[in-house]
Amino acid sequence: MSADFDLIVIGGGSGGIAAARRAASYGARVLLLEASRIGGTCVLRGCVPKKLMMYAASFSRAMAEASGYGWTAVSGHFQLEGWAEAKKRELKRLEQIYQKMLADSDVEVLIGHARIAGARSVAVADRKLSAERILIATGSSTDRGALPGLAHAWSSDDVLDLRRLPSSLLVIGGGYIAVEFASILADLGVRVTIAFRADLPLRGFDDDLRNSVAEGLKARGVNVVAQSQMQSLGRTPGGFVLYRANGEPLHAEAVLNATGRKPCVESLGLATADVRLDEKGAIVVDNRSRTTASGIWAIGDVTNRANLTPVAIAEGRAFADTEFGGRPTEVDHRIVASAIFCDPPAACVGLTEAQASSIGPVDIYEAHFRPMRTAFIGSQERTYMKMVVDGHTGRVLGVHMFGTDAPEIIQALAVSVTAGITKKDFDRTMALHPTSAEEFVLMRDPTRKHRRP
Ligand code: NDP
Repeated sequence: MSADFDLIVIGGGSGGIAAARRAASYGARVLLLEASRIGGTCVLRGCVPKKLMMYAASFSRAMAEASGYGWTAVSGHFQLEGWAEAKKRELKRLEQIYQKMLADSDVEVLIGHARIAGARSVAVADRKLSAERILIATGSSTDRGALPGLAHAWSSDDVLDLRRLPSSLLVIGGGYIAVEFASILADLGVRVTIAFRADLPLRGFDDDLRNSVAEGLKARGVNVVAQSQMQSLGRTPGGFVLYRANGEPLHAEAVLNATGRKPCVESLGLATADVRLDEKGAIVVDNRSRTTASGIWAIGDVTNRANLTPVAIAEGRAFADTEFGGRPTEVDHRIVASAIFCDPPAACVGLTEAQASSIGPVDIYEAHFRPMRTAFIGSQERTYMKMVVDGHTGRVLGVHMFGTDAPEIIQALAVSVTAGITKKDFDRTMALHPTSAEEFVLMRDPTRKHRRP
């Protein structure tokens, strides 16, 4: 007996939608199952609303700087309620666009909690549906297990849904979410403290970029508390207190738990389906996103590879190309650009200085300067740029930037780095003046060389 569908996708986020539409474009009969709303974390609870909040916050800096450029009487008060209503409308608009794109692609959509119910079978409420292939794209959600008491703290979802800003906020963690929200809320006028256990925020990023981000947060008025040995989070009459083994307790009206996310695998029935999980609870997959169970694939955050929207989309499309398009495709996870949308932002692509110099000889080129726009008004803000170059071949292995427009500049450079550009190619590129980006083609001499790994 033939199955009801060629493919059932569980999860209507960026990765699941991309996979479903690509598979349908090859003529597959596709059903997409989503527990709540179409759009997933990126569109509804992550990248998109976060960036809209960042744009709202950016006006505080613009207003503060305007007088230095001759503007008078530029001031204002931020009303979260107005932004929240506009954001709600915008997310609804985007959700409808995704619904229409799925309908136009002939992907059937069903809202309900899905559970694997046997080989090639999925249960939704009291319905059982069969498919030749099942793709799990359920994403991740806030992990509340890092410290006792975190269950009472806000997640990033909660901050994005606020209707009133707290007077003070304690951000726990030093990753993407922690840094971005610390910066945004500080720009919106909240007294922000960020506490993390490492020396610097953003573990895994280049150390000079991490240092620049920490200094940038301090310059925006954020109280940066590094090397915090956190013990537990408690309640006080006025809010919260974070107890630490190596310092005074930290108090705030509200707390954002930004200690990481965990794969959404609960109640999917994976144990009965022989789908293996790793020690962090992520679904184990091979380089073609195949799980340990025949007929079941997984993509995106639920597999905990590179937990970024474009990666989930690429994995979803590669799955569909391989299984339905007759074009076996694997995603290259080695060169993935990423950005931290703090103010100023940071972005990078490729290897850090530490990673590259542990492999072989490396030349480091740097630029460190006060950008024209803020130097004009007497600001001490600095832009930082680094290029990591293979000491043998001259190939550019990594590019890192902290400063205005870093995400836009790094996205453009990521094309060249992916294509294997060399430092000589940068040298023969004409500068576009006056920009900050031109500094990347004007780096003449290495600031240091690593020769012994
Ligand atoms: P991250 O994994 O980036 O950061 C988690 C932070 O929590 C780290 O600073 C970590 O510290 C800290 N932490 C974890 N466990 C503990 C503990 N037990 N005690 C104290 N501190 C702890 O997670 P995020 O939540 O910031 O982001 C989740 C994912 O979302 C990321 O993987 C990212 O890919 C994605 N994202 C991407 C964005 C972008 O591209 N701009 C924006 C937002 C999210 P330590 O470093 O010491 O381990």
